[in-house]
Amino acid sequence: MSAADSQPAPVAPSAFPLVDPARWLLEVVSVASLTPGVTRVRAHLLTANGTPGPFAYAPGQDLTVSLPAPSGSTVSRRYTVDGYDVASGVVELAVVAHGDGPGARWLAAGTAGRRVEAVGPRGKITLAAGVSTHLFVGDEASFAAVRAIAAAVPAGGRALVLADVAGSHEHRAITVGDDVALDLRWVHRGDAPAESPARVLDALDELDLPVADTHAYVFGEAHVVAAAARALVAHRLDASRISAKPYWRAGRPNADRGEPDREL
Ligand SMILES: Cc1cc2nc3c(=O)[nH]c(=O)nc-3n(C[C@H](O)[C@H](O)[C@H](O)COP(=O)(O)OP(=O)(O)OC[C@H]3O[C@@H](n4cnc5c(N)ncnc54)[C@H](O)[C@@H]3O)c2cc1C
Repeated sequence: MSAADSQPAPVAPSAFPLVDPARWLLEVVSVASLTPGVTRVRAHLLTANGTPGPFAYAPGQDLTVSLPAPSGSTVSRRYTVDGYDVASGVVELAVVAHGDGPGARWLAAGTAGRRVEAVGPRGKITLAAGVSTHLFVGDEASFAAVRAIAAAVPAGGRALVLADVAGSHEHRAITVGDDVALDLRWVHRGDAPAESPARVLDALDELDLPVADTHAYVFGEAHVVAAAARALVAHRLDASRISAKPYWRAGRPNADRGEPDREL
C-alpha cells in the first residue's frame, strides 16, 4: 500500500449534496470518436419501466455499468457523466478505447439501441467547498471528471489543470464559469509509459500553490495517482485537501467491481 493510501484522509466539505444511486437502463444512441483515444457514448438513461430520467448528479459523479465478461459473468465498469440533457434524457460519456476489456468490448459493439444496466450516480468526489484554487491532475480517462468539477468552480475561483495526455491530438476543451480563472497545462507523455509519474511530478514541482487555499483532485492511472498524491503532501497540502482516486491500472484489468487494484 502506498503512503498516500495508508490513512483514510479526512473528507473536505463538499459544495454539492450527494444523491442516492438508483438503477437505470442505458440505451445506446450513438458511439463516435471524440479524439483518437477517446470515444463519445451518448445513451438514453431510462428507468426500469423504460421512461427517461429524471437523473440528478453532482459534478464528477459517474454511472456504474454492468457488462458481460468472457467467463459469462457480469462485471462493473464506471464512467463519469460528461454531460446530461434533461429534455432528452440523454447522458454523455467519454470512454478511453483501449485493449480488450469488458469496457472496450462494449464500445466496439456499441450499436444504437443496445441496452445495459447501470447504477448511479456513484462517487463521493465532487467540488470541494471552502477554497478558491482547485487543482486537477487527470488523464484521458478522467478528463470527464476534471471537466465536470472545473465547470462547477464558482465565480472568483481558479481551476488549475494538469492534463496528462498522449499528445496534442488528445486535447479537449474545458469550459469554466464567468469570473473563473482557468490555467490549463498539458503534459504530453508521448511514448513514455502511462504509469511512469515523472512528467506529472515535474509539472507539480513547477506550481506555486497557495496550499492553505487549495483543494486537489487527482485521478487517472493508479501509480501516477499515488505518486502525485504523495508529492502534494510533500508540497505541504493537507491530506484533507487531496481527493485522490485511481481509475485504472497499467497492465492489469480493473476488478470485477470496477475499481483498480490499489496495492502497488
Ligand atoms: C470512479 C471511476 C470513474 C471512471 N470514469 C471513466 C471515464 O469517464 N472514462 C473512461 O474511459 N474510464 C473511466 N474509468 C475507468 C473505467 O471504469 C475502466 O476501468 C476502463 O474503461 C477500462 O475498462 P476495460 O474493461 O476496457 O478494461 P480492463 O478490463 O479494466 O483492462 C484491460 C486492459 O486495459 C488497460 N487499460 C484500462 N484502462 C486504460 C486506459 N485508460 N489507458 C490505457 N490502458 C488502459 C488495463 O491496464 C488492462 O491492461 C473510471 C473508473 C473509475 C473508478
